[in-house]
Amino acid sequence: MKKLFIEETPHKIGSEIELYGWVDSKRDHKNIIFIDLRDRTGIVQVVGDQQFKELNSEDVIYVKGLVKKRPENLINPKLKTGKIEIEAKQLKIITKAKPVPIPVNTDGYEIDEEIRLKYRYLDLRRQRMFNNLLLKSKITTYIRNYLTKEGFLEIETPILTKTTPEGARDFLVPSRLQKGNFYALPQSPQQYKQLLMVAGIERYFQIARCFRDEDPRKDRAYGEFTQLDLEMSFVTQEDILNLTEDLFTKLVKEIFPEKKIQQIPWPRISHDHAREKYGSDKPDLRRNKKDKAEFAFAWIIDFPLFKEQSEEDYFYGSGKAKFAPSHHMFTAPHPDDIPLLDKDPLKVRGLQHDLVLNGFEVGGGSIRIHDPKIQKKVFELIGFSEEQKKQFSHMIEAFSYGVPPHGGIAPGIDRFLFAALGEPSIREVVAFPTSSGGKTSVMDAPSDASEEQLRELGITITNKKTKPNLFNQITELLNENGMEYKILEHDPVYTSEEAAKVRGTQLKHGAKALIMFADKKPIMLVLPADRKVDTKKFKSDYKVHDLRMATAQEVRKVTNVEIGALPPFGNLFDIPLYLDSKLGENETIFFNAGLHTKSIKMEYKDFEKVTKPEIGNFSV
Ligand code: ASP
Repeated sequence: MKKLFIEETPHKIGSEIELYGWVDSKRDHKNIIFIDLRDRTGIVQVVGDQQFKELNSEDVIYVKGLVKKRPENLINPKLKTGKIEIEAKQLKIITKAKPVPIPVNTDGYEIDEEIRLKYRYLDLRRQRMFNNLLLKSKITTYIRNYLTKEGFLEIETPILTKTTPEGARDFLVPSRLQKGNFYALPQSPQQYKQLLMVAGIERYFQIARCFRDEDPRKDRAYGEFTQLDLEMSFVTQEDILNLTEDLFTKLVKEIFPEKKIQQIPWPRISHDHAREKYGSDKPDLRRNKKDKAEFAFAWIIDFPLFKEQSEEDYFYGSGKAKFAPSHHMFTAPHPDDIPLLDKDPLKVRGLQHDLVLNGFEVGGGSIRIHDPKIQKKVFELIGFSEEQKKQFSHMIEAFSYGVPPHGGIAPGIDRFLFAALGEPSIREVVAFPTSSGGKTSVMDAPSDASEEQLRELGITITNKKTKPNLFNQITELLNENGMEYKILEHDPVYTSEEAAKVRGTQLKHGAKALIMFADKKPIMLVLPADRKVDTKKFKSDYKVHDLRMATAQEVRKVTNVEIGALPPFGNLFDIPLYLDSKLGENETIFFNAGLHTKSIKMEYKDFEKVTKPEIGNFSV
């Protein structure tokens, strides 16, 4: 085993040591050759002779050498090891490295994220990324030790399970043993942790992975994330806030000694007050927002139990019922407000608490309902069908066998670190994150399943022709460019007329994409759906001899997309895009985003920016 890390070398002056690591860089001065040798703790200068000639960056080597003080004038104050260097006595090349596709000795922000994720194993070699992973490991270790001392048990809960909604879509996993049935990945361990309270565990925690199929944002990872999930019995909200506050205050002192927490005890702000005074339920209370050392924690409490249901309340009926939970459906109403459940549900306060750090919601939790009657009432108010109620009947049943009052919280670990470091995206603190378009790092998932696998699962794919992930590619492109857009889900449409109808817009707002062959080369023409291509004009404007419409089969071949679902993004298919200027008369445009059932609404000017088309006048 390697015995010595590079950061320890300055303490070894005068000794012969053995080092293992990667060649960070090489400086060839003919007779002597310097390299910087790197491991996860830093770099150190090694001085060698001709033997070093064949070294390339990122080769993995072994060096035996003497640690020497550098002469005063050659000290490099920027390096932790800048006062010493290693005089090599022996060199072994363990493995050679090809030139790497991305530099690994910068901070990496300058590199396109897609490439960074593709080569994440190289990207993680950079010091900044290593430090982020190191911090995360320190945080989870600290939490484990702290909570274990407080009498908590760390307990795992299933990943293959039944839906546990937190307001997002579920990820489903098909079952082989019960063909046609599915597991859902948990959006949180919420139900299990409450069942553990029924089981008499009293104090539970887990560094838990949660899975939510929701549209990504910069402070939210797509797909999965990690949170400290905890639950306690026989507690008040006050107890939960105090414990969490003490844990995080001590954790910050220990792991981020350079940071100053702005106010201890943390301010507690009612939801109404936060909205009125700061216009946000996650206010950024830092005095100087540019000061990276400032930590402004806050509690937001006294949330309303319900909000009015909207289409975004994915699980709870997408706007079909009147109320949706502000937090989730297991949150208890304030005891004084129980009579209001019948009279005026929107006035009921919930025993919910949100943890906010520097303007980010880092965690949330609540005291839970433990009275089955109230739980049933909440199910009704959020519009649960009999079928949905049945999905949660195990909770009602469990609560009928002696349930302690209980409550908890779940601070996001990636979220906390992201907010603490002020990183531009949460992916900077995750080893192998999924891109905003839903593609995994390094390995290209989601990917096809084999015929055999599908047969075993009893699954037939019906829209195989649809380009996989095209929809995600589009939203990814829009997200990357910071563009606003809205996704509309609707019944399948196959023509522009049908599309305008389901979207409730005029025909001219639809961006119609056509594939044509111009002198045998495929091109895409985009125009308002109420207009036609003036082929003569196009031909003379662009000096094309032969222009013809592609057949349905050719469209499929060129784009992998069915006619009627083709999005106006020629750039995504690597074919030239011609845009008719008439489309620009619309402020907002709509188009099918690679699927017959999904449209996107966005501003025309953003569309032009992101597709960079050739603009002309060729419609009638
Ligand atoms: N299950 C909640 C969440 O993940 C947290 C909690 O209520 O404890 O947001």
